[in-house]
Amino acid sequence: MPDRLERLCIEKGMRMTDQRRVIARVLSTSEDHPDVEELYARASDIDDKISIATVYRTVRLFEEAGILERHDFGDGRARYEEVPETHHDHLIDVQSGQVIEFRDEEIERLQEAVARKLGFKLVDHRLELYAVPLSGKSES
Ligand SMILES: [Zn+2]
Repeated sequence: MPDRLERLCIEKGMRMTDQRRVIARVLSTSEDHPDVEELYARASDIDDKISIATVYRTVRLFEEAGILERHDFGDGRARYEEVPETHHDHLIDVQSGQVIEFRDEEIERLQEAVARKLGFKLVDHRLELYAVPLSGKSES
């Protein structure tokens, strides 16, 4: 059974080699936002002949095909996730680096309203919140 990402690749007419299939599978089953090093580590567990250069090339290919989203969460490392079926935004804990996915209907509406006020129809957006936990760990 091909996973969702692999299906999308096939729909886009991409030639699926075994290594691309492995990388697609790793991305599809990842629930976090791995960078290339992490993807390489996970792909190597499945196929130890995969090189980091292949991982780089493949994520670029997937990104160009619009099936992979690249994020920069402020630490200069490109991170990837499968383009989600339903939109979400991200909150980044700047102390731990943890990335939390959220969706807030009020924010979604506000963004559309702002675009409309400026004479535009919103077609896409990205929102990243950089935050520290409320209960300061230094106080406890
Ligand atoms: Zn995400």
